[in-house]
Amino acid sequence: MEKIDCLSAEELDGVVLSYGEPSFRSRQIYNWLYRNNVSSFDIMTNIPSSLREKLENDYEFTYFEEVKRLTSSDGSIKFLFRLEDGEHIESVLLRDGDRISGCISTQVGCKMGCKFCATYAAVGFKRNLSVGEILQQVSALRKSAEELFDEKLLNLVFMGMGEPLDNIDNLKKALTILLDDNAFGFSHRKITVSTSGLIDGIKKFFAMETPVNLAVSINAPNQNIRQEIMPVSNKYPLNDLVNILKTVDIDKRKRITLEYVLLGGINDSLSHAKEFCQLIKGVKAKVNLISFNGSPFSKFKAPIEENVLQFQEYLINNNVTTFIRKKLGQDISGACGQLAAEYEGADS
Ligand code: SF4
Repeated sequence: MEKIDCLSAEELDGVVLSYGEPSFRSRQIYNWLYRNNVSSFDIMTNIPSSLREKLENDYEFTYFEEVKRLTSSDGSIKFLFRLEDGEHIESVLLRDGDRISGCISTQVGCKMGCKFCATYAAVGFKRNLSVGEILQQVSALRKSAEELFDEKLLNLVFMGMGEPLDNIDNLKKALTILLDDNAFGFSHRKITVSTSGLIDGIKKFFAMETPVNLAVSINAPNQNIRQEIMPVSNKYPLNDLVNILKTVDIDKRKRITLEYVLLGGINDSLSHAKEFCQLIKGVKAKVNLISFNGSPFSKFKAPIEENVLQFQEYLINNNVTTFIRKKLGQDISGACGQLAAEYEGADS
């Protein structure tokens, strides 16, 4: 049966019209779904019971069940959700002082095969998430932020399991609903989509009418190293990727975030910093450095702190705005996919 909570405003208009109901009913149902995040037609009290019955006969809600949550000593919370087909995904409420962000998954597993990634190592790729499954994560995190922290969830990062631009149609539809003031009402400035560098996806992303922020995982100063750690580079070479980032038309107030995971002894030396700095010249960007989190599934090591600071210092001295991203939720399997990976192991 089709899922009601995957429908856009226009699609709901079509449904209501096909039932011969007045068009304002569509807006009412839309509000119930995406502003109040209800999961039953019975709660839609301003909708006549005859219309609710029709909806009930033709549509159902996306199945989405929380099965586990882990709380970190820094206040971040990782959630594990079970989906209709028994697959699992994870989402995280990241807490950094007063700032609460939701980290959202877009696929069960991932195809990209980054060598340092827990998701790929243990889960592989299963399937894309539906619009409803993407939005259900946001609803669940938003509710938890209010219940647990008495805070509104205002920031979203699509950096959980999966490559968002490999599921761009569902991502695009979900973003339209997330940004709509009659639905979730997020600000486009507070949503970031993170990609491993799918050039075709990046072109589609900039053609979308949803002007959210883009982060690109670069992780290497040259093609040789990138190819070793990110197989996606075979299809989309690093220079082509950087050239696209130099030419895309981004909002004047925005910059692309370049993510760089520092892997001890692989890409974290001063000469790597120099090469990387040269590579990204001309990209309107800021850089986020992320120290690799050790993982039981990985052969890579965390970088030493001195290298991380040296890398940052070189970039800053060369006028590249560079942050070291705090490691949040480290004690709860902080890297993407680790909890689902552990669950995968436990289930099998
Ligand atoms: S790091 Fe991200 S893009 Fe790479 S395999 Fe993991 S989930 Fe996929």
